[in-house]
Amino acid sequence: PHTTCKSITISRTADSWFIAFAYEQHHEPTIKSHDVVGVDLGVKELATLSTGVVFPHPKHYKAHLAKLKRLSRVIARKVKGSENRYKAKIQLAKHHAKVANLRKNTRHKITTYLCKNHAKIVVENLNVSGMLANHKLAQVIADCGFHEFKRQLEYKAKKFGCEIIVADRWFPSSKTCSNCGHIQDMPLKERTYNCGSCGHSMDRDLNAAIMLSRLAKP
Ligand SMILES: [Zn+2]
Repeated sequence: PHTTCKSITISRTADSWFIAFAYEQHHEPTIKSHDVVGVDLGVKELATLSTGVVFPHPKHYKAHLAKLKRLSRVIARKVKGSENRYKAKIQLAKHHAKVANLRKNTRHKITTYLCKNHAKIVVENLNVSGMLANHKLAQVIADCGFHEFKRQLEYKAKKFGCEIIVADRWFPSSKTCSNCGHIQDMPLKERTYNCGSCGHSMDRDLNAAIMLSRLAKP
């Protein structure tokens, strides 16, 4: 089938040119293999689903971040206005674009998988500004691009015919035992939920994803 192109955008990132064509979106509802899924966006893994599916951070991602930092330091050492500084800046911009692309591809993979295969998707409402106190976590959240993640979910939900449910900001998904409902403090370093009430033991992120999935009304 053919379609009408509504607009063409040409953009430049580092030294690469891109051309984007915008189309009218067609609805292609899919048959869902799962009714409900809870999604925990994590620190250790990029996303953990209540169904047990895990999306890890993209391969070599940490190495790329380290290289970004190294290239920034190289620029700082070069003389301002020099040819070498200019060359270093181009290198940094190229690498930035590479890392951004890596993130973008991973996000698209996750959001497409979610919207194609699940009728109801429950996600956290990440309060990014409230998390800035924890520098490392803030970095991870920023890297995950939560707003972009949500934006993709919303338009793909329309396309594939599913519902997005955003949890209340204060819903204690990480602190609540998915087996008995007991609530306890869960410092970030604790990777396993060990329930102080019923003894239930489960991966922290999976426990949180299951709690989120329960927010979907049957
Ligand atoms: Zn329990």
